Amino acid sequence: MPRSAVLGLPRIGPDRELKFALEGYWAGQIGVEELEATARTLRASNWKRADAAGMDVIPCGDFSLYDHVLDTAWALGAIPSRFGALDRGSLADYFVLARGDAKRRPLEMTKWFDTNYHYLVPELGPDTRFEPRADHWTGPLREAAELGIQVRPVLLGPLSFLLLSKGLDRPLELLGDLVPAYADLLAAMRAAGATEVQLDEPCLALDRAPWELAAFAKAWRSLTEAAGGAELCLATYFAELDPDLLERLATLAPAELHLDLVRAPGQLAPALEAFADTPTRLSLGVIDGRNVWIADPDPALDRIDAAVAALGSKRVTIAPSCSLLHVPYEAAREEAIDPEVRPWLAFCVEKLEELRTLVAATGPDADREQVLADGRTIASTRRTSSQTNDPAVRERVGALSVADYDRPSPFEERRALQAERLGLPELPTTTIGSFPQTKAIRTARRELGEGKLDESSYLEFIRSQVDEVVAFQEEIGLDVFVHGEAERNDMVEYFGQQLAGFAFSAHGWVQSYGSRCVKPPILFGDVSRPAAMTVDWWRYAQSRTAKPMKGMLTGPVTILQWSFVRDDQPRSETCTQIALAIQDEVLDLEAAGAPIVQVDEAALREGLPLRAADRDDYVRWAVDCFRLAIAPARPDTQVHTHMCYSEFNEMIEHIIRLDADVLSIEASRSRMDVLDAFTDDVTYPNEIGPGVYDIHSPRVPSIEEIEGLLELAERRIGRDRLWVNPDCGLKTRAWKDVRPALENMVAAAERRRAAVVV
Ligand code: GLN
Ligand code: ZN
Repeated sequence: MPRSAVLGLPRIGPDRELKFALEGYWAGQIGVEELEATARTLRASNWKRADAAGMDVIPCGDFSLYDHVLDTAWALGAIPSRFGALDRGSLADYFVLARGDAKRRPLEMTKWFDTNYHYLVPELGPDTRFEPRADHWTGPLREAAELGIQVRPVLLGPLSFLLLSKGLDRPLELLGDLVPAYADLLAAMRAAGATEVQLDEPCLALDRAPWELAAFAKAWRSLTEAAGGAELCLATYFAELDPDLLERLATLAPAELHLDLVRAPGQLAPALEAFADTPTRLSLGVIDGRNVWIADPDPALDRIDAAVAALGSKRVTIAPSCSLLHVPYEAAREEAIDPEVRPWLAFCVEKLEELRTLVAATGPDADREQVLADGRTIASTRRTSSQTNDPAVRERVGALSVADYDRPSPFEERRALQAERLGLPELPTTTIGSFPQTKAIRTARRELGEGKLDESSYLEFIRSQVDEVVAFQEEIGLDVFVHGEAERNDMVEYFGQQLAGFAFSAHGWVQSYGSRCVKPPILFGDVSRPAAMTVDWWRYAQSRTAKPMKGMLTGPVTILQWSFVRDDQPRSETCTQIALAIQDEVLDLEAAGAPIVQVDEAALREGLPLRAADRDDYVRWAVDCFRLAIAPARPDTQVHTHMCYSEFNEMIEHIIRLDADVLSIEASRSRMDVLDAFTDDVTYPNEIGPGVYDIHSPRVPSIEEIEGLLELAERRIGRDRLWVNPDCGLKTRAWKDVRPALENMVAAAERRRAAVVV
């Protein structure tokens, strides 16, 4: 029979125990012993859970008190000199890298590939010296041994470690120095009882140059030698290994190669061919580690059968596609989810069971019909359920034609009509949408949830917040108003809760970074909008002022990107359904009188596929979905969009194709350099508001500073197409900072209006 393996497990705890222990420790409420005890308990229960599910290979060292890339840097002694002397035996010092302190900025944080997990970016320099210490793995190896459970250490491989770092132009030049350090770690793991080690090399699957692969091959050979008797298992995920890369890896003959067959099933056939005459085991990632759905057992078994036929069952391992870090713990606990939908869900616990079932189905005298009966039934109910097949939605999507993606008239015509309708001054001032989410607002929302506050008192409270935000905007003289979004907990959840096709878990937390978790909505079915979602709030806010009030919506791509999305149809199709639901809302806002509608696409860029070859297709449908959402708006309705990042270089033609009348972006930290992308090769034709106030920091920018930024922007874009706004929404800021910052922003705009055109 093939063996089963798990590449990594969730670590925050079924009830976010790690989060609370970390935050308690940071706040000085618990000591280091208590934090470590919590961590030990979580590790042990992970191992026991995997052991009880019959897993043959169980990971260790995947657990982290903050982040596994940080753990790797810490274990290698790759500590930037700007931190001074840190004590590598001290947890407090470890957290300085992650969180900084009064004098030291923490390491930068960035997204882990295309997940919503964030890792800390190691900083390397020409002076980096590696001083390996293996306790991060040897400790857990001993803990597991005491429980009588054999575990496999997981270690981020040297190629990916270097490529994920910053500070060096040619990071792989450090491979030669790094390999001996890794060799030391491997030797220590082996001495602590490891018989095999999993080296994660996700970067291997991402458009690597031939010389990079050659450097990797050299490193791998040295590590294989250094590992002595311990087997080295090479794990890749999130993307496909090309056939020639597979051939190349076959010459290295790792003890095992893991392939993500959920993301990239096409690599199985070439892999079976390339590895036919090697001793390598292939680890088939057939259970989706990135999503929450039960697996249809038959396609998974087809792959396993093919591999067993080609390699023999001893050379086949069955596994999730990647670490289970990216899924929550246990779907069975989600009692509040619709009883028809809940069995379609598989979180970590259920995924381990699915693996067990797959192994059982491949046994020599397995009765497949019987073993697979349950899985097959659930998969087929899901396929045929009316919740995943709403005829009205399907008909509407099916009837779309190319014309449905275009606004009725070109930008310049719309622009004239909008200018006439809105009568705005030059350099109009506005904000991105949210105002500070104060403690009072969060308390009111919580009390509404707990039933301590009744609906009408809650609504009255939110109205009072809108009143305050409107009065404030009047007072400081902004030109285009927002209602402040006090009623929204989150820019995706708020809409998901009002759309058909979404479910919400009670315990479905996944780690985002450190102690931070997110609980993504679960998009399980056909999406439609039963009733208007934001119109009442818009109407109320507009009734309090004569200034134009923006209607505020989250765009289809962002709703898709920040949810667990159904896997039984292409994402583009699901996104089209969301786009139509948002379109309904755009039209209702317009009919209610909204002169401006903003459709935020904060996550458009992060949806970009990892492999260059897949990107065109994504941007095409993602931009189409945005266009579809706003297309039927009248020409005199001004459509804004907002994107809170500042990397537009490869994206600019697509951003142009969005055809929003006004685009606001993040620009203050780069001092408007981001605008180069809007003027260099192609000129961005529509109006644009590059942020002039960095909302990620409590610092209040002065009038002069904002004026300076505006002048820089005018030079690039021209005054007549420029808007004045912050980088992003203000919900994480405090009123005491927001008030003076926005006052200064308005004053700076006024000064620029009075200044001669540059
Ligand atoms: N309108 C949203 C807000 O202001 C946009 C948030 C975002 O782009 N992340 O909060
Ligand atoms: Zn933003």
